[in-house]
Amino acid sequence: MHERCFWSDPGYEANDPLIGNRRARWLIAGGGVAGLFAAYFLLKRGERDIAIIEKNTVGSGSTGHSAGMLVADLETGPWSAVIANYGAEAAGAYMRAQEEVQRTVAALIENEGIACDFSLRDFVLLNDSEWAIRRTMREFAARHAIDPRHPTILEEEELQNEIRSGEFSFGEYVERGLTVNPLKFAHGIKAYLMRHGVRVYEHTPLLSYRDGVAYVPHGTVSCGHCIHASGTWLRDAKLRNYMTTIGVTRPLSTPELAALNLADKDMFEDDGKRSYHYGKITADNRLLVGYGDVLGVPDVPMVSLHTPHVENIRRFVRRFTGHDIPLEYAWTGQYSLSTGLTAQIVLGERESSIGGAGTQIASITAASYLAAALCREPHPLDAIFERGRE
Ligand SMILES: Cc1cc2nc3c(=O)[nH]c(=O)nc-3n(C[C@H](O)[C@H](O)[C@H](O)COP(=O)(O)OP(=O)(O)OC[C@H]3O[C@@H](n4cnc5c(N)ncnc54)[C@H](O)[C@@H]3O)c2cc1C
Repeated sequence: MHERCFWSDPGYEANDPLIGNRRARWLIAGGGVAGLFAAYFLLKRGERDIAIIEKNTVGSGSTGHSAGMLVADLETGPWSAVIANYGAEAAGAYMRAQEEVQRTVAALIENEGIACDFSLRDFVLLNDSEWAIRRTMREFAARHAIDPRHPTILEEEELQNEIRSGEFSFGEYVERGLTVNPLKFAHGIKAYLMRHGVRVYEHTPLLSYRDGVAYVPHGTVSCGHCIHASGTWLRDAKLRNYMTTIGVTRPLSTPELAALNLADKDMFEDDGKRSYHYGKITADNRLLVGYGDVLGVPDVPMVSLHTPHVENIRRFVRRFTGHDIPLEYAWTGQYSLSTGLTAQIVLGERESSIGGAGTQIASITAASYLAAALCREPHPLDAIFERGRE
C-alpha cells in the first residue's frame, strides 16, 4: 500500500518563490480553495492588483488531500441549528448561496476547460443506526422548511437502487454534487487566476505581517490589505483542527461496480454519532473511502497516516462491498473547523482572515462573502456572517 495521497502529482511545476520587495493592493496568504477563491471573487469585482503567496505549493494543504466531493452542505453544524440561530430566511439564503457557488464552480470548470476529472453526481446520505435515522428525520424536516425541494428520503429498495450495500437500509438523496480530483482542481484555478493577472508565488511562506508589510523569507510585499487563508495554520480561538484519513482501492471491475450499483458513481456519506465515513468512485473506478472521528486534535500530534483510521476504512470497505478489497493508497489529512455554525471570518481595515468552513463549497461561499465585504458591497449572506461576528 502506498502511504501517500492518491492525487499527488510529482510532475507539477511550481511557480518561483517571491524574491525582492513587491507591492500589491491585495495579498492573500494561502493557496487552498479559500485563498484561491478569495482572489477569484475579488477579480469578479473588478479588482486587478492581487498576489497570492503559498507556503508550499497551491493545493498542498487540506484542499489537495481531500476527497474532492464538492457538495452544498455544512460541516460546521446541522441545518436545524442554522435555522434556530439565524431564522429560516437567512438559513434558506445560506443554502441557496452554497448551491449558487456549486453552479459557479461547475460553470468555471466547464467554460475554462479545467482538466480535473470533473463530473456531476448524486450524493446519498446513508444511515445504519436508529440514532442516525432519527437525526436524518429531524434534519429532513428542517431542510424541507427552508427548501421544499430538499431532500428525498430513500428506504430499502429506493436506496438499493442508488447504492446497493447490505449495510444500509435507510438514506437520504441530498442533491447532485461535483466530484473532482481536488489537486488538479486547485492547479486549474491557479492557472485561471494567473491568466487574469493574479501573481502566484509558491514556496513563499508568510513569516509575519506588520503595518501593511508582509515579510517572506527573501523579500517583502507592501500591501493595501492582507487576507490570511492559511487553513490549519490559521490561529483563531474559534478554530479547531481535525484529522481524517482516506483509503483508495484498486480499480473495480464493471461487474463489481454493478454489484454495488455504483457504475453511475454516486457519492455517499455515513454520519455516525462520533465518526463518519464518506466516499465516491474515482475517475478510474477505484472505491475511495474516508473516515474521520469528531475529536478536535489540538493535543494529539498530527500524523501522516493514522493507522486506526486505516483499519476502520478496511472494515468499512469489507462491510460495504462484502469483500476484502485491499487498499492501494492511504493518507491522513487535516482540516480546520470553526466552533461556530459558519466559517470563521475576521474582517479588519488592513487585514482579514478566513477559515474553518469545513467543506470546500462552504469555504468558497465564505470567500465570496469576504470579497464582497472587503469591497463594501452587499451580499446575500450579510445577515449570516455579520451576526456570526457579534
Ligand atoms: C482527508 C480530507 C478529506 C476531505 N474531503 C473533503 C471533501 O470531499 N469535500 C469537501 O468539501 N471538503 C473536504 N475536506 C475539507 C476541505 O478540504 C477543507 O475544508 C478545505 O480544503 C479548506 O480549504 P482552505 O483553503 O481553508 O485550507 P487549505 O487547503 O489547507 O489551504 C491553506 C493553505 O495555506 C498554506 N499556508 C499555511 N501557512 C502559510 C503561510 N504562513 N504562508 C503562506 N501559505 C501558508 C498551506 O500550505 C495551504 O496550502 C477534506 C479534508 C481532508 C483533510
